[in-house]
Amino acid sequence: MNKPNNGTVRNWINGVWTDHAGPTIDVINPATGQVVTSQPDSSAEQVDSAVSAARSAFSSWRTVNPSVRAQHLHAIADQVALRIDELATAVTIEMGKPLDEARGEARKLVAALHFYAEEATRLRGSIVPNADDGFSSLVEYEPIGVVAAIAPWNYPLELIGWKLGAGLAAGCTMVIKPSEYSPGSGLLLAECVAATELPAGVVNMITGAGQTGQALTQHGDIDKIAFTGSGATGAAIARGVAKATSLSMELGGSCPLIVTETADLTEAVRGTLRRAFRNAGQICISINRGYVHTDVYDDYLAALAEGATRLVVADGLQTPNADVGPVVNQEIFDRTTAHIADAVQRGARVIAGGGPISDLAPGLFLQPTVLADTDQDMLIMHEETFGPVIGIARYTDLDEAISQANSTSAGLAAYGFCRDLGQTFTLSKQLDFGNVAINNVDAGIINAPYGGRKGSGFGVEHGREAIDGYLHVKHTRIRHGA
Ligand code: NDP
Repeated sequence: MNKPNNGTVRNWINGVWTDHAGPTIDVINPATGQVVTSQPDSSAEQVDSAVSAARSAFSSWRTVNPSVRAQHLHAIADQVALRIDELATAVTIEMGKPLDEARGEARKLVAALHFYAEEATRLRGSIVPNADDGFSSLVEYEPIGVVAAIAPWNYPLELIGWKLGAGLAAGCTMVIKPSEYSPGSGLLLAECVAATELPAGVVNMITGAGQTGQALTQHGDIDKIAFTGSGATGAAIARGVAKATSLSMELGGSCPLIVTETADLTEAVRGTLRRAFRNAGQICISINRGYVHTDVYDDYLAALAEGATRLVVADGLQTPNADVGPVVNQEIFDRTTAHIADAVQRGARVIAGGGPISDLAPGLFLQPTVLADTDQDMLIMHEETFGPVIGIARYTDLDEAISQANSTSAGLAAYGFCRDLGQTFTLSKQLDFGNVAINNVDAGIINAPYGGRKGSGFGVEHGREAIDGYLHVKHTRIRHGA
């Protein structure tokens, strides 16, 4: 293996860190505005090399015994575990997540890779009874082929890792494109893979922006695309595929919270603060909008505003245990302030925060913001903000609150707080979302399926079910005469 990054991100194709003579793209630390590294803006030819490497590696990797694939995944996990601080630091300086939170992400990646290592050994098929004597039908699962994995910057390690874990467990080979905002942490993860005995070409990683993703997803030799990102890009990818290609898409959304009059308000407020402001609200399952019963509305709001005001906003490299870092880029900064302005102009009250923290400029820092008395027409209540802001509306009738929660095109995650059993099951059954969390705000756990519906996409990550998306099913009918 030749020497990797040296401060500048390089592509990793067919087990080799490739030199790049073409254009590059800078990566900016959103907490300081300073350039931290640069990355190749990979061309269609470089994409083609990566896909060819993955195709050629597939012919042997697909037949590797699952227990050996499991050993490879355990080995990658072990390499990640050795480099938690380095990986976390790269995440923090590229996308702004406070260091302690980034360390948590890296540790969860280790757990995810071990999980998929174990699942690799549990893949099995079935034997189906035949109506005719002397026949047997075998149903088996085989790897789908070469996977294009495009991951975003908000969880730059885990969102690559889930695809990598499920894909390798299934026996697929991969071309991974990290986000152009977080290529350094992506390539450190590639270094962890490179430090194992995984055969060359099974995993490849390339960077770029503008045409690289398109060249990859429109390449004629890709068998599956696993994408996490915006709905608009997901739709563009689906329109542009070169041939019939398996797709899985996690496209985020606008996640609602319902707090009923029976809720434990302390828990509801604690949960809201965690799930609205963690990662500066840049999570596809962030709570964007709340519907709170009129009997508890004022008490809930007062406690939420107080909690939001107490959150520590800082450069998470200097203050590793900060609650909130900067947002990743100017686009999100501007959209968040625009959503706040839209709500205020339409009659919402700002009860915490309200806008940029100018003392921390040019860092892209925003105050954790709570908007009260919102209505469904406000952008904050139906569009994804992806910033540290939440809108709260009052309700009197639970069915009406559920109907408003379901009224957008989003279907990824919804939350409820209540202590009444009937309300619990009403929320569980009637919220039209792929993930519903009640009396907690951690909808995603590694061993249960996690996916959206409606405009939030299709297919799942997490759980044994995620591996299904990387497998073909094969029926073999044998006439043996016995
Ligand atoms: P995008 O959805 O714009 O995706 C960017 C990635 O997709 C890049 O790797 C890009 O590569 C690739 N891409 C873009 N166009 C195409 C195409 N036509 N075909 C194939 N690949 C393509 O995400 P951003 O990171 O820019 O975030 C934008 C917004 O998306 C955020 O503000 C947020 O609202 C949402 N988001 C949602 C997330 C979620 O978890 N669901 C995660 C992150 C963001 P290239 O430019 O090389 O083509």
